[in-house]
Amino acid sequence: MSELLAGKTALVLGVANRWSIAYAISSAFVREGASLILTYQGERQRATVEELGGELKASKVLNCDVTKPEEVESLVASLREAPGKIDAVVHSIAFANRDDLSRPFLETSRDGFLLALEVSAYSLVTVARAVAPLMSNGGSVTTLTYLGSTRVVQNYNVMGVAKAALEASVRYLASDLGPRNIRVNAISAGPIKTASARGIKDFSKVLDSVASLAPLRRNTDPSEVADAAVFLASDLGRGVTGNVVFVDAGFQIVGIGLSE
Ligand code: NAP
Repeated sequence: MSELLAGKTALVLGVANRWSIAYAISSAFVREGASLILTYQGERQRATVEELGGELKASKVLNCDVTKPEEVESLVASLREAPGKIDAVVHSIAFANRDDLSRPFLETSRDGFLLALEVSAYSLVTVARAVAPLMSNGGSVTTLTYLGSTRVVQNYNVMGVAKAALEASVRYLASDLGPRNIRVNAISAGPIKTASARGIKDFSKVLDSVASLAPLRRNTDPSEVADAAVFLASDLGRGVTGNVVFVDAGFQIVGIGLSE
């Protein structure tokens, strides 16, 4: 079978380590023939992401904290220089204070609320606006979300509110960018053990609960999320925009489930 992303250049934001969902997506993109550009957030992550970028034969590994306009600007300047054109963007970024993921949502501080919304939702708007001019042949922007946006998931708290804003942003961005043939979608992934997920209190209990109740009776593998991201970035996804695609072993359809 021919490679689904041959000739396409993809920018992936949010690889922190090998367990990152963005790493699984990057690997699948490379398998499908894409040329890859990765970003990292600050010096602390630089060496790790450069090493992973080397393994994935990324053409560039660039610094970008999405909350710093000057870093987004210099990212775009570097992309404009080379490769000059971007076909796909993956936004796999989120952050909330650990405190806000353990105490009741009612206790969320103003600063904690604004921080979670800025990093996890507004950053998609920033990135889409910055990169759209480089998508001269159209393109695809994909972000990562979670069921806590529409349902109450214990301890997900302010991150659920941020994901609700993120999903609404996907729809408004899809509407704005559709006339330029730029598609914007989210993948709602089932829970996966990553560095970010470890910040959520009792995360292993969430994994156990999902595995016992999901129609497929198991958790989500990062490679399944990655293959959905390939579909959305490829020409196979050309008619899909403004969507939230669930890759969660079917857990989102469960109403009341009784564990076996
Ligand atoms: P992860 O490996 O920790 O990835 C999160 C990434 O966000 C890290 O690379 C982190 O960089 C980056 N980031 C945070 N603040 C940033 C900033 N200001 N600028 C640039 N990058 C920043 O965890 P993950 O689980 O793969 O998360 C990726 C996405 O998937 C997130 O949107 C998450 O909400 C979503 N998601 C995860 C799950 C799950 O169960 N794991 C389920 C559904 C959706 P640093 O490490 O340098 O801070």
